[in-house]
Amino acid sequence: MRRTKIVATIGPASESPERITELLEAGVDVFRLSLAHGSVEEGIARIRLVRSLAPKAAIMVDIPGPKIRAGSFGTQGVELIVGRVIQLTAAFGEASTAERITVEREGVIDKLRVGDDVHIGDGGVSLRVLSTGSEVTAEVVAGGTVMGKPGLSLPSSLMNDRLPTDDDRARLEAIRDEDFDILAISFVRSDYDAVSVKSVLSRPDIMIMAKIETQEGVDNLSSIVEVCDSIMVARGDLGVRLPIENVPHLQKSIVRQAIQFARPVVVATQMLESMTHAHVPTRAEVTDVANAVLDGASAVMLSAETAIGSDPAGVVRTMDRILRRAEEGFDYEGWGAGLDVQRAVGERSHAVRITAAITGAAWRAAMEEGAVAIVACTRSGMTARAISRFRPPMPILAITPNSATARQLGSSWGVNDVVISSETDMSQLADIAVARLKELGIAQPGDAVVVMAGSQRGGAQTTDTVRMVIVD
Ligand code: PEP
Repeated sequence: MRRTKIVATIGPASESPERITELLEAGVDVFRLSLAHGSVEEGIARIRLVRSLAPKAAIMVDIPGPKIRAGSFGTQGVELIVGRVIQLTAAFGEASTAERITVEREGVIDKLRVGDDVHIGDGGVSLRVLSTGSEVTAEVVAGGTVMGKPGLSLPSSLMNDRLPTDDDRARLEAIRDEDFDILAISFVRSDYDAVSVKSVLSRPDIMIMAKIETQEGVDNLSSIVEVCDSIMVARGDLGVRLPIENVPHLQKSIVRQAIQFARPVVVATQMLESMTHAHVPTRAEVTDVANAVLDGASAVMLSAETAIGSDPAGVVRTMDRILRRAEEGFDYEGWGAGLDVQRAVGERSHAVRITAAITGAAWRAAMEEGAVAIVACTRSGMTARAISRFRPPMPILAITPNSATARQLGSSWGVNDVVISSETDMSQLADIAVARLKELGIAQPGDAVVVMAGSQRGGAQTTDTVRMVIVD
């Protein structure tokens, strides 16, 4: 049983039916499809393909926001050498080379000024603008190999579009009726950004994930966490826009704050980057993945490793091993005891406060009695996410009437199995849970199982009951 979930980005190296099936078998819980690459029609075709091959896995669609990308440097990469002068040109669907980088956005190149820095990708390659106009020339000031379609970080004054951008809006409208589960929003800087995107998408069943990758996103984290369902620590852009030495500390504080509010949090980018080509990760990467687990991450994400890497399924298997081992060293008791749940929940609605209190009671009861599992009966997934924040050592089983909720719980830490059932009676739910736990080999006669369920109050479902069931 692995508690920390794996998100894998689909790209040219992994978009065939065979590769997607291999990734699923290797342990992917959430497939991430970035709409930054290719046409929206191609994006839709990928959503449909993944859904047909992985009906129970969650699909995350990622919209790029104001992120600007270069035309492809290919999967082998191109070396940019310090001192060389390169041309920047606005063009779509044209490859980039060591002499000419195509920029896939109109109206930005001509706003660059002499002396501006342009960073490429997440790896520290950068250019300094030498001359401007509709075609810009720039000198390579930090060299290196670039591959795929890297993001271009331009001065922030050129990237301050409101969300959703016009491009995002067109994409959201095109995908509105598609069968996906999570929408990741790039460059969320405020709760207003997230709410604006949500209202354009207009799909209350979709989980909204805010990618924190700017100083404003960090500054406004608590109000963003309030209005979003989940958070991503997008370390790539975070490390370009903020001093890179701040990234590990931001990771810890963003994870902690998101989990206090029962929001699943994904740690992303360069986790096993060297495995894009190599068979084994570096020691530093293995330590980084293990540290993300110890920081409390709900999920970890693979980007280039699975999108353009040489062995996508092999990387997932490596990640799976590192996660399982790291979970052996996690301080389950200390994490749950250290959580100040009611303070985090603050003055929020009655239902939220009751769920916080009930899940706190369920966690304490399960820990004291050494329960073999905690069962969360949940419509929206909130109760399962609320108990997951305590990081209990025993498996969490969710029971939900809703198949979209079941898939979304794929990104919640420790939710290891989900049963779909529209039963509402508490003793029936407990029987369903115990039968499933026996089938999975988790529960034996005499074991204790904690079950949480809700009653219908004023039409709204609130988790207001916790029971200790002894398996017979
Ligand atoms: C990041 O910047 O870390 C990130 C996850 O965003 P993207 O992969 O879309 O650049």
